Amino acid sequence: MTAEAHPAGDKKTITYIFPIYNEAGNIALLHETVSKVAEELTDRYHVEFVYVDDGSKDDSLSRLQVLADSDDRVTVIELARNFGHQMAVTAGLDLADADAVIIMDSDMQDPPKVSLELVEQWERGYEVVYAQRRSRQDTAFKKLTASAFYWFLRKVASIDIPRNTGDFRLIDRKVVDELRKFRERDRFLRGLVSYIGFRQTGVLFDRDERHAGITGYPLSKMLRFAADGILGFSVAPLRLISRLGYFISFLSFLGILYVAGVKLFAPETAVPGWAFITIGMFFLGGIQITMLGVLGSYIGRTYAQSQGRPLYTVSSVRTPAKPAPVTKS
Ligand code: UDP
Ligand code: MG
Repeated sequence: MTAEAHPAGDKKTITYIFPIYNEAGNIALLHETVSKVAEELTDRYHVEFVYVDDGSKDDSLSRLQVLADSDDRVTVIELARNFGHQMAVTAGLDLADADAVIIMDSDMQDPPKVSLELVEQWERGYEVVYAQRRSRQDTAFKKLTASAFYWFLRKVASIDIPRNTGDFRLIDRKVVDELRKFRERDRFLRGLVSYIGFRQTGVLFDRDERHAGITGYPLSKMLRFAADGILGFSVAPLRLISRLGYFISFLSFLGILYVAGVKLFAPETAVPGWAFITIGMFFLGGIQITMLGVLGSYIGRTYAQSQGRPLYTVSSVRTPAKPAPVTKS
């Protein structure tokens, strides 16, 4: 870090990144709580906050502007529309100029005080410190689908993604620099962070309930996100196609043997067989269409990537006023 980049001189900088989508009811409390927690860091570090408004439809943005007016450690990035949680975090990572960033949800589900434990592990030399849920206050449905998803992902993915983690984590500058090189569209950040490597460790915590507002992850977004995790880190679904193909071919071979046997040894018991044909047709048809869908999912991702569009568009950035740069002699 160069001295002129940071007004705090030789203190290292830690930047909190908050993706914001319709969090008007949480912003004030969040900032107050995080600022309080960050007081414990200010003797050693320069602390900054980057809030990324992901096209909120409530008055989150104006509340963020109020924050920026009153606190000169606050940066507000306004995305030009709703790009989704992962893109909002990406925009924050792209802009933050810090020795370490801490990514947190903005609905108070990730308790701000846990960030101090993340920093402690960073000081011990870990470059990625993820917060791992010991317990969570979510609906039974969410807990069940999440645990099924992570079980499956660990089974099929080519990387080791720690269980019960979200994007709540501290990431060292070195890892952020690597992460910035990954410009894939259908992003599953926690997977990318695992993929990148470096020394990583976890800190256990109890996840709270959302403070105000409603989830920005309805079932449809959750399913998309789950698909991004699996398709982005595994070709197992593609391999599944040929395995199913072998299996069905084997079944039909048994069918041929059976039909030949009946014809040769007991022709009088032969039935017209319409039911068998109908079921076989639907069964095969269903599997073929499903497998076309699997192919389509990968082709769709390839197409989107080949368009090479920017990941998000920014309509405004409001950074704290920096003092005039110190000229080097
Ligand atoms: N979020 C976002 N863009 C979206 C949806 C959510 O930036 O399109 C943010 C949201 O404001 C929150 C975080 O992502 O800070 C996690 O979202 P949420 O709490 O709604 O998800 P859940 O905890 O229900 O999975
Ligand atoms: Mg939440």
